[in-house]
Amino acid sequence: MTEKKQKTKEEVRKFIEMVAKKNGWYLHPDEDFLEMLIEGLQTNYNRYEYFACPCRMHEGIREKDADVICPCDYCKPDLEEFGHCYCGLYTSEEFHKSGKMPEGIPERRPREKWLA
Ligand code: SF4
Repeated sequence: MTEKKQKTKEEVRKFIEMVAKKNGWYLHPDEDFLEMLIEGLQTNYNRYEYFACPCRMHEGIREKDADVICPCDYCKPDLEEFGHCYCGLYTSEEFHKSGKMPEGIPERRPREKWLA
């Protein structure tokens, strides 16, 4: 039996920083909130072995959760429309420069994909 690889918070932070850098995005400006999102991603990774979105419900089955594996399918369109993703983890450069805080935005994930 292979041992499950557990990720540390530092590894999760490195991952999201790498994603942000690669895409020209920024991270949530509030360090405490960011820490919460990192802990959520870490918990999900260590439970499922993939980065399920920290602010959505999941099935715990990779194929069913594929659209909400971070960075999710809805991230780019949300950054374009609202300046940040659903969780506020990633923000656009323009939003970052505005100094604003991410707030609640509409859920772009189709309702039929939510947990029944
Ligand atoms: S909403 Fe943000 S944190 Fe959640 S999966 Fe999408 S990109 Fe990641």
